[in-house]
Amino acid sequence: MNLDWIKPADRLGSLPPYVFARLDELKVRAREQGLDLIDLGMGNPDGPTPQPVVEAAIAALQNPANHGYPPFEGTASFRRTITDWYYRRYNVKLDPEGEALPLLGSKEGLTHLAIAYVNPGDLVLVPSPAYPAHFRGPLIAGATIHSLILKPDNGWLIDVAAIPEAIAQQAKILYFNYPSNPTAATAPREFFEEIVDFARHYEILLVHDLCYAELAFDGYQPTSLLEIPGAKEIGVEFHTLSKTYNMAGWRVGFVVGNRHIVQGLRTLKTNLDYGIFAALQTAAETALQLPDVYLHDVQARYRTRRDFLIEGLAELGWTVPKPNATMYLWVPCPVGVGSTDFALSVLQETGVVVTPGNAFGSGGEGYVRVSLIADCDRLSEALRRFKQAGICYKPGTLVASSD
Ligand SMILES: *Cc1c(COP(=O)(O)O)cnc(C)c1O
Repeated sequence: MNLDWIKPADRLGSLPPYVFARLDELKVRAREQGLDLIDLGMGNPDGPTPQPVVEAAIAALQNPANHGYPPFEGTASFRRTITDWYYRRYNVKLDPEGEALPLLGSKEGLTHLAIAYVNPGDLVLVPSPAYPAHFRGPLIAGATIHSLILKPDNGWLIDVAAIPEAIAQQAKILYFNYPSNPTAATAPREFFEEIVDFARHYEILLVHDLCYAELAFDGYQPTSLLEIPGAKEIGVEFHTLSKTYNMAGWRVGFVVGNRHIVQGLRTLKTNLDYGIFAALQTAAETALQLPDVYLHDVQARYRTRRDFLIEGLAELGWTVPKPNATMYLWVPCPVGVGSTDFALSVLQETGVVVTPGNAFGSGGEGYVRVSLIADCDRLSEALRRFKQAGICYKPGTLVASSD
């Protein structure tokens, strides 16, 4: 039977095509041909979940009390662990009864927040490049997006002062993310103060994604939005266990901050899901309570890979700034080559998968994102193939296209 007459809702049609789709196709074909792919394209950490977390999950699985529907708002114990963790890290007290909400991964919450707060036509400010959920969530909700184009000469920070008055007056929400995926940029505390001032002045909801809270190196400590006085009146912050604890498959994240906003998201989610399997919430508590030595190991692993790859790329002519957080390098394409073409030719010629920057918005054109999700042996093999295929950066002026 022909089902052409059942059309998807307009909100699906509003989404830009996934740049990843063509890359995925090529990946499948390359694998079929028996090519040994080195996949540095995803943001999927390659390590195992820490053993104490796995053991806590196994024990919790054996407890029938965990087998029913979990409470909508997450278990009281996990919420308390979240606010205790937050206090330990940032010295800010939050109420576990309303200022913290567990999520099925932060992507779920980031997207549903837009469904809960955006009416069709509402103006939402989103940096470009950005993590796709930051603009795809609002687009699904019918938002009009105003892209804040990020530039390397401003350290990939949002130029708050350059946002036109009329846009600021109209804007309802601003999404942002430092340390940043994909640019790996970090923001100083003064930047957070400036954006909080801005949001308070124009009454804009600030949505900060701090998913790389702990993947930071060389003594750098990322700032949390809620450390800034007054931020809780206009903001929420999303966290995840996916990256720090190698728990991407477990789907555990949380949001903290303004209680009305958290409540609005909770109301929506009450109508959509039942939250995280209670056994996994118990395991997540174990993760947030792991000793700092665990974090140091994870940080050391990514730092070693970062330094290794930056050195290797330098030999091929690339000058890649050394990021002090995240699990990515943000690498300029060779002069005059577009992101998609470059990523596709790297894949075809070397079997190395990198993500074209324009997958994160037009502001990412001219760059590719390389994830540090393989060990140095594999990174060394990737570099060897680059060299053999003559893939290198020739210094010159990069022209990034603008909106
Ligand atoms: C990986 C990532 C997420 C997704 O986290 P989940 O909790 O696994 O959904 C969210 N934001 C950014 C910026 C990320 O890089």
